[in-house]
Amino acid sequence: YAKRQGRNHYEFYMQELTRQAAERLEVEAALRRACRNGELELYFQPQVELRSGRMVGAEALLRWHRPGHGMVMPLQFISIAEASGLIVEIGDWVLADACAAVAEWNRGDAAPLQLAVNLSPRQFIRHDLAGAVRRHLQESGCHPSWLKLEITESLLLDGDRTVEDMLEALTGMGLAISIDDFGTGYSALSYLHRFPVSQLKIDRSFVGDVPGDRSKRELVKAMLSIASALRLETVAEGVESEQQAEYLASHGCRLAQGYLYGRPMPRAAFEALLATSRAA
Ligand code: C2E
Ligand code: MG
Ligand code: MG
Ligand code: MG
Repeated sequence: YAKRQGRNHYEFYMQELTRQAAERLEVEAALRRACRNGELELYFQPQVELRSGRMVGAEALLRWHRPGHGMVMPLQFISIAEASGLIVEIGDWVLADACAAVAEWNRGDAAPLQLAVNLSPRQFIRHDLAGAVRRHLQESGCHPSWLKLEITESLLLDGDRTVEDMLEALTGMGLAISIDDFGTGYSALSYLHRFPVSQLKIDRSFVGDVPGDRSKRELVKAMLSIASALRLETVAEGVESEQQAEYLASHGCRLAQGYLYGRPMPRAAFEALLATSRAA
């Protein structure tokens, strides 16, 4: 009986694996068409300066309108796009669209917005990233300083020369580099002075429990003081309450992003918000 049971479990397990693999393949095939069919869209989430309350930038966040499935969130498809290499083509579309958007917003305006764009490690190693960025900037009329590239710590921990060279090339062009999800990766911090990084983005897993949770509070304070010592700008992610914003501001955090200021929204809604904010 035990043997039969074990065997049933095994078969069930195999069926489950097969089902998951089939689903991934299906998503991959659908994603392959998504770029060409115009199913991808960038949403924009405001970033505000805590001291003044002014909107000074935004983060571009990808959404996929998959036929028959409604809107699909990045967590459901980015890892598949990365594993299949499709992220290079998708990432290129994201960069082009982001450049075009911010170039239009900043046309003739005295206080330009800075737009943050997420980059996958795959985009660094298998692609002429700097060349692609340069082309998108030229085609859109976007100034390099209007763009900020968000990368994760894991990219830097590879200790790869090509990554270092690529980052030097990008910052040499005038782009800013931000460390996304800061604090969630490994704790080695030596990369912070080795690479040309200009901003730390404190992950929302820390921000969410501030100021209530004592250890999270201390960790956020420590991250802000590291940033200050290294003259890095800080942005807190996932700010949902005034108490969080106050705590962050009083400990020297410069920027905030989160539902308190606005959810990620389609371009038209973001542009309406921007117009109101600039009129004020
Ligand atoms: P991320 O870069 O850390 O983006 C922040 C995520 O936190 C977004 O989720 C955003 O909607 C969410 N968020 C922002 N404020 C709040 C808040 O106050 N409360 C809560 N609960 N959540 C908040 P989203 O849009 O689902 O994106 C998830 C992840 O997918 C991103 O995390 C990023 O790693 C990845 N991603 C999104 N767009 C792109 C892209 O164009 N390229 C690449 N390579 N990755 C992307
Ligand atoms: Mg990000
Ligand atoms: Mg983040
Ligand atoms: Mg995150």
